[in-house]
Amino acid sequence: MYWHQLALNVPLERLFTYSHPEPLPLGTRVLVTFRGKRCVAVVWAHTDELDFDANKVLPIVEVLHDTPPLSEAWRAMMAFCSRYYLYPIGATVFTALPQGLRNSEALSLSEPKRWYRFNELGKQHAPEPAARHYKKHALWQGLQQQLLGLAELKQIHPQAGKILQEYAAQQWLDIHTEPSELGFHSDFVLNAAQQTAHAAISAKLGEFQAFLLHGITGSGKTEVYFAAMAEVLARGQQVLMLLPEINLTPQLLARINSRFFGHEPAVLHSQTAAGARSHDFIRAMTGEAKLIIGTRLSVLTPMPNLGLIVVDEEHDGSFKQQNELRYHARDVALWRAKQAACPIVLGSATPSLESWHNAATGRYQLLSLPERANAQAVLPKIHIIDVRQLPLEEGMCEPVRQALLKNWQRGGMSLVYLNRRGFAPVLACTACGHTFDCPNCSAKMVWHQRQRQLRCHHCDLREAVPVFCPECHNSDLTPLGQGTQRVEEALNALMPHANIVRVDRDTTSGKQDWQQLYEQVQADAVDVLIGTQMLAKGHDFARLNLVVILNADGALYSSDFRAPEHLFAQLLQVSGRAGRAEQKGKVLLQTQLPDHPLFAALQQHDYISFAEQELASRQLYEFPPFSHMLAVRVDAPQMHEAQQLLQQVLDGLELPDDVSVFGPVPMLMARLNGRERAQVFVQSPSRQALHKAGRLFQAELTALLPHQSAWRYSLDMDVQDA
Ligand code: ADP
Ligand code: ZN
Repeated sequence: MYWHQLALNVPLERLFTYSHPEPLPLGTRVLVTFRGKRCVAVVWAHTDELDFDANKVLPIVEVLHDTPPLSEAWRAMMAFCSRYYLYPIGATVFTALPQGLRNSEALSLSEPKRWYRFNELGKQHAPEPAARHYKKHALWQGLQQQLLGLAELKQIHPQAGKILQEYAAQQWLDIHTEPSELGFHSDFVLNAAQQTAHAAISAKLGEFQAFLLHGITGSGKTEVYFAAMAEVLARGQQVLMLLPEINLTPQLLARINSRFFGHEPAVLHSQTAAGARSHDFIRAMTGEAKLIIGTRLSVLTPMPNLGLIVVDEEHDGSFKQQNELRYHARDVALWRAKQAACPIVLGSATPSLESWHNAATGRYQLLSLPERANAQAVLPKIHIIDVRQLPLEEGMCEPVRQALLKNWQRGGMSLVYLNRRGFAPVLACTACGHTFDCPNCSAKMVWHQRQRQLRCHHCDLREAVPVFCPECHNSDLTPLGQGTQRVEEALNALMPHANIVRVDRDTTSGKQDWQQLYEQVQADAVDVLIGTQMLAKGHDFARLNLVVILNADGALYSSDFRAPEHLFAQLLQVSGRAGRAEQKGKVLLQTQLPDHPLFAALQQHDYISFAEQELASRQLYEFPPFSHMLAVRVDAPQMHEAQQLLQQVLDGLELPDDVSVFGPVPMLMARLNGRERAQVFVQSPSRQALHKAGRLFQAELTALLPHQSAWRYSLDMDVQDA
């Protein structure tokens, strides 16, 4: 008998020993009985030593042969993720595996394959679908160009099977049982800046190098990725392209399919049907799929022959998982590129300050695309409106109201943007704009309405709400921030016949709603869109020529040190929404801080000067990237329990010298799902010291909190929402 140590899908920091008559290769999936239930496990190690009775070792029930064993490189990545993000190894492994590999139902991989395109008849007669049916349109366009597999077509349009049947019934299709030859096709010659960027990446194929590709939207970053990807694919290697869910659109997939013909990319994201996801996971793992495109989870896919990683919109918050295994896909991708000895390209118009800092200090090579590739599209003019002395009606000043009214009368489309992510309300003086700083921290005091208090969410200082502004003695102090709903009502009163659509979490929860909205906008049926950051990115609205930004200031008063970074990225992005096509766009930004340097940089569309000023302030306060940060969180039925428990843990720990601790304090969103949440921030310039501290916390909390208790904890390494 051979003893195997297995990774199981349980939240425990350990492996489990089972026996088998022959030694099984590491990475083999097996079926075992655990606590009376059948489940899948992965062989993680062999051992000769047991710390319990050999007769009690259970046998492995069945060895699963439907997939090859998970490779050593992949297991090394899992071990890294588990160690780095302080999460149990078994649970880490099962986060990465798709549904189909987590259970033991046989996977069928041998469905017959077909490839399709329009024949001459189809090209002439298949009617072009209306642009607002954008998925159907993308499908139609794809079929004009080259052979496409059913899987690819389904990625473009979920009902591709049915549509193909209709086309086939008209004799409009060529149907093949083999893909066309693999290839790459481009209509463009790269411009000089693109060529320089491409040449730099090209020179590093076959070795590790991180690149930061900086260029505004439309500057041609995607074309640079494509050129590098084509080169790597031509070498027979695999390419991984990561992007935020919202950017993984049917249009992009169609664009990729028309460039990389015959490649049939594996597309992995959370919405992919379970069967398709397992199928693509295995195609990537066996090396059959050369092109792997997906959202954050796709970084955990095994790829034996990886030659290039691209991370588009690398600053995007969706790359960080916010529960369970709290990994950052961009950071795992960097580790992975190093392991695979291949280049990685991080692209963005507004890079994260971590990445910008890494480029500035030479760890990444900076590549810049300074201009729009498409010269017609001009940047919108951004006007800053000082509202300190202006009366506001539901948050809007008269010039803004007039501009919206006029734009509607002239047949333009407007977007009213409210920024309100992740900041707590702060109190401001309506006369001079004064706000309240914590004397102990670099944070704004947060307004707690019920208790009539101002509190610091970093050190927990509490003060009664003042009656007068300490600077100008005005007594009109109001919280910043107003709701989309009230803005909608005000605009309905202002222009009763306009079609005004509000988009926020209450009105658009599902994908379906998004699509409806998108189709409505494409059909020119919307005059004013009101919404939050959901509207900042993603789709293009051609007729949009006026953007109004209402309460940007909130983020500048936020207790989250990343708020200005997110604000700048969002404002730049939302400004870019105005005037995309031939329409010249205009942006109106209301503020009580007209002289804030962030707005000055925004007006110039100048990311670099923003990044420099912001990094200087991060350095002053030793915030990331000048230190590393871990959040240790506990939730409990009562806040005092959560805070006490954290304090108790803290008191019992002997932390390394260069580690500082802040808290315990209530989380910004202290109450969630009826539970109270508290946290401490652990910070250190040394990653190693921070990890050591993290492991101490982990051990102490695991010991204190038995599995079934009403208290839970989590550790968030490189926490994003501080
Ligand atoms: P980004 O990824 O930076 O937003 P894209 O690569 O999508 O930019 O390019 C923006 C637009 O410019 C696209 O319509 C693209 O087809 C076009 N474009 C990009 N590079 C060139 C080029 N070298 N010549 C002509 N058009 C280009
Ligand atoms: Zn404080």
